[in-house]
Order: sequence, then structure tokens, then C-alpha cells
Amino acid sequence: MNTLPPGSTIGIIGGGQLGRMLAVAAARLGYKTAVLEPEPDCPAAQMTNRQITAPYADPAALDKLAGLADVVTYEFENVPVDAAERLAGQLPVFPPAKALDVSQDRLTEKRFLNGCGISTARFHPVDNDGDIGEALAAFGGNGVLKTRRLGYDGKGQRVFRASAPGAVDGVFAAMGGVPLIMEELVPFEREISIIAARGQDGAVAAFDAAENVHRDGILRRSTVPAGAGGTIAAEARKAAYQLLDALGYVGVIGVEFFVTQDGRLLANEFAPRVHNSGHWTEAACTVSQFEQHIRAVAGLPLGSPERHSDCVMENLIGDDVAKAGALLDEPDLLLHLYGKKDVRPGRKMGHFTRISPKE
Ligand code: AMP
Repeated sequence: MNTLPPGSTIGIIGGGQLGRMLAVAAARLGYKTAVLEPEPDCPAAQMTNRQITAPYADPAALDKLAGLADVVTYEFENVPVDAAERLAGQLPVFPPAKALDVSQDRLTEKRFLNGCGISTARFHPVDNDGDIGEALAAFGGNGVLKTRRLGYDGKGQRVFRASAPGAVDGVFAAMGGVPLIMEELVPFEREISIIAARGQDGAVAAFDAAENVHRDGILRRSTVPAGAGGTIAAEARKAAYQLLDALGYVGVIGVEFFVTQDGRLLANEFAPRVHNSGHWTEAACTVSQFEQHIRAVAGLPLGSPERHSDCVMENLIGDDVAKAGALLDEPDLLLHLYGKKDVRPGRKMGHFTRISPKE
């Protein structure tokens, strides 16, 4: 393992709340951070030693980051692959650029998951209106049409139901005329996720599965332990480990799954980064997902993913942040605000985790 000595600098591409929490975790382990982010006064800028204020793909900015940092990581999955590869020619980049490449395209991602032996919902590539009709016919009229690239938090998605069939003419153009994927609409009983990590020595660790509730495509709440039961959780953990090994991964990964009414586990997608459904780890585990990621990219041994408490994490989205003050009166509650000045509908402003004794 290539262990970074304290005082070394970890470069982080992306300056949102995940970058902020990574910067805090890095500081706690004695590291400095440098953040590449075009937005001045971003959440991470308030915590980092250096910000390079430039677009993620700016070659001069990338070279500057390479000059400042000893290792580079990232906080979001849409880092341009070329940018990660440019950096990888100069210093270690974790997770590997391959993880970005696979996760940036929902079709490539699903094929890769299936190739690792991990089941997903059935899917059909869509490049015109005719493909939409074909896919819906194959899925009994129930499907979710998604953009293959650059979709997040339910953006760029359209649901089709057999109970309310509509015309498909013009839908491809209305979705932007970009490559799409139709997925079978999964009648899931619950959604769960696994936050797992792989170290530079190939060691793996996974936090307990979280059960997640989304509204309007955005994560609202994660509950741990998940109600899915031990067998499903073990299957999800095994899938996450298969994925980590197949990608030759280093760092923390978030893998989201559907659990169907008949007890099947289907992977939805993975994020090659720390994940919102793992924020609870800062309150219910000794080593959080953020520290775990920093440990992995810095070549330190992974921490124990053991959980000391049960917990429920909720996001503070948009105006929800107004209740932050009142939450501070509650015992056994950890509040985390992201330092964002402007409150906007749908914007993640913070989160809080309530812990309770483990049952
Ligand atoms: P995604 O952008 O793929 O994470 O989707 C956001 C949310 O939409 C998921 O967490 C699910 O709640 C819902 N969703 C996405 N894909 C499907 C699907 N194939 N079947 C049912 N629900 C889905």
C-alpha cells in the first residue's frame, strides 16, 4: 500500500456537500485538501485548504490540482472521464476512471452489473419512438424511461403505466433526442443501499444495509437496520463486493437496490463515491463513510464498519432547513448543515440523524 503521510494533500474534484464532508474527514486524519470546483464559496471551499475555482475539465486547472495534491479523488460521478485520465497520468486517482466510465451511462452500467452476475430490472436501449413502443410491449406496458447519461435525483425520467397508456410519438424528441434506456417498472417492496469500501490492499468492508425512501426521485430518509432481513442484506453486500473487485476499485461506493415483493434483489445503480444514503454512518458508526473513503484513498487500513446504534437519517431539503434550530433541542440527534447560502426547492441543505440503542 502507498500510505500517505500526515500533512499530504488530497485533491477532491467537486465542491458540494460530499466534498465538504470528505475535506472534514481528511483534516481529522491530518491531511490537507485542495478542491477543484467552478462555484466560489461552495460547501467544500469553506472547509478546504485550497480551492481551484475552475471548470472540472479545464486542463490547466487539472494540472494545477495534480501539482498540489498527492492523490486525487472525487465527490460526484459526472467528473469527465478525460479529466480523471489526465490526472491519472500524473498521480494516483481513486476510485479508478473506469468506475466513472461505467457509472456515467445507465446502459453500460446495467450491462456491467449483469456481467458481474448482479441482477437488475430488465432494460431496453431507446434511440427512437419505435424503441419505446417495443420496450413497453416487452414489459407489459410498465416502464421507466431515463436518459442514459447525466440523470440524477430522478431528473430526466418518465414513467409509463399499462393502466394509463399514452402515445409514444414524439416522446424521444421531448426527452431531448439523446440516448435513452427503458427499464421495467419494478413493483418494489422497498429500496435499500449498501455503502461498501475497498482498500488499496484489496480488503473490503461494508456498512449495514440502509432502507431508503425517495420522494420526487430525491432521497428523503434512510433507516438502519433495513427491514429487508439478513439474507437480502447479505446478498446486497456480496453484490457490492463483486462490483468492487470487478472494477479494481479503491474508495467508498454506494450501490442502490430494489427488493421486490417476491423477495428478489435487483441493483438499480451505483455511485463511485460517498453516498447520501450513507450519511447515517457519521452518527451510528465509529468510522464514517467519509473517513472510510479517505482511509482507502490515502492507503490506510479500512476502519470497522460496525454500527453501535440504530438510526434514521433525514435530509433537509429546501425550506426543511428552517427546522434545523428546533432539532438541536433533541437528544441523540446529530445535525449536519452544508453551509449553502441560497435555499432553493429540491436543494439538499443538510441532514440529521436520530440514533437509538441497537435492537
Ligand atoms: P434513479 O435516478 O435511477 O436512482 O431513480 C430514482 C428513483 O426512481 C429510484 O430510487 C426509485 O424510487 C425510482 N425508480 C427508478 N427506476 C425505477 C424502476 N425501474 N422501477 C421502479 N422505480 C424506479
